[in-house]
Amino acid sequence: MSDEQPVVKWQLPVKQSFFTDHEWIHPRANYHAFQTSGPERHHSLCGKYAQDIDFFETDMPEGTGENYICKACRKRLEDSCAWSGVLNDSNG
Ligand SMILES: [Zn+2]
Repeated sequence: MSDEQPVVKWQLPVKQSFFTDHEWIHPRANYHAFQTSGPERHHSLCGKYAQDIDFFETDMPEGTGENYICKACRKRLEDSCAWSGVLNDSNG
């Protein structure tokens, strides 16, 4: 099915520390597109991260700048025609 679009959730990757037993987010981390369904569920499109997207609530707020979004994830979305203007495309 080529018209199947991956459903994703943009979130910050959360690093889990096994030493202190708590989660933290790198202050300069980018948002990644985590898949919400299919075999790759909970994995980012770029393949760099995996986390429980239902557990963490680090969703991307509206108006987040391009610089804070993983380019690889975005590319994967664009390639699959699932990119539907999440960003305010107001560059001009
Ligand atoms: Zn990514």
